Amino acid sequence: MSLDALSPTDRQRDAFRTRLLDWYDQHKRSMPWRDTDDPYRIWVSEIMLQQTRVDTVRDYYPHFLEAFPTVEALAAADRDTVLKYWEGLGFYARARHLHEAAQTVVDEHDGTVPDTMDAIKELKGIGPYTAAAVLSIAYQKPHAVLDGNVTRVLSRAFAVEEDATSTAAQNALRTLANDLLAPDQPGDFNQALMELGALACTPSTPLCDRCPLQEVCQAHAAGTEEDYPITPESTPVPHHDIAVGLVFTDDGDRLLIQRRPDDGLLGGLWEFPGGKQEDGESMEAACAREVKEELGIDVAVEEPFYTLSHAYSHFKITLHAFRCRIDEGTPEAREGQPFQWVGLDELDDYAFPRANRRLIEELERRQTEPSLFD
Ligand code: SF4
Repeated sequence: MSLDALSPTDRQRDAFRTRLLDWYDQHKRSMPWRDTDDPYRIWVSEIMLQQTRVDTVRDYYPHFLEAFPTVEALAAADRDTVLKYWEGLGFYARARHLHEAAQTVVDEHDGTVPDTMDAIKELKGIGPYTAAAVLSIAYQKPHAVLDGNVTRVLSRAFAVEEDATSTAAQNALRTLANDLLAPDQPGDFNQALMELGALACTPSTPLCDRCPLQEVCQAHAAGTEEDYPITPESTPVPHHDIAVGLVFTDDGDRLLIQRRPDDGLLGGLWEFPGGKQEDGESMEAACAREVKEELGIDVAVEEPFYTLSHAYSHFKITLHAFRCRIDEGTPEAREGQPFQWVGLDELDDYAFPRANRRLIEELERRQTEPSLFD
């Protein structure tokens, strides 16, 4: 179906809503954020669920809300504490923006999460998807959500013959989702569509036999479910080799960590110094160069410590960590990044990205093998 023709009849609309809501009523999974109508708690869940698996959020959500049970508690917390509770969830800008937005809610909205599209979209970190989700689920406002799951279900149900990632298609799908939305149950409708995408209308091998939309689904009728959504050819994921210096004091008791700049990937988290290998450079040379550039010290790169691979959303890295000692100089924050000397038993007090945390786990494991630290 072309984008121009994406307009359901009254009968199609009624059938879509009724079948979907009945199915959701019977099959929805139990989630901690589905047991509350507190806009703050729903907002936190929606931020956590962006780009993170439901099972992971299920583990983090209760601990985060135990630490920050109200928007006032979150607003009053210091940022390092918030990042520590977010550690491992990834996409750390979400935590920084949530924290900043909580302060705005307290300072400018008397601690009440705004209930209008214009006001809620002013908050840091809230885009069209999160705004629609919070407004519909917490306040029963008629705003449809459009995420990857909804895009897939609607593209299949209406056999959308356009690149679903294009702006035109996304706009048309959003209009369609708003047209289909059940006006008296917008929150349930949105969650039902996303739940269907997660449980039945999955990216590969959709479970059409268990789908309430089977009889109204155009892709299923044609047997072309997996042809939708139409997307452009995927491009290869870039890969980078990263050298990392584990710079120890002479007695081997403490090592250097530094905090990443606030803006950009993993902003505000702590890490071991290091960076990308340049063309024609050995990993050892890359390690020494990066440590020098970031901390102004000459280090002797003594021995490889550990190599690991890690995948981010848009690229992959292989991280090569080396044990180092200072040859010359005193550390200084050359690139404006604060640094600390910390003992191995203090590393858990800081929030680290996942790849660095794996290095810490390896450091802790080898602590029981003293020869590696002699
Ligand atoms: S019938 Fe199949 S392809 Fe169509 S919406 Fe349901 S699960 Fe998706």
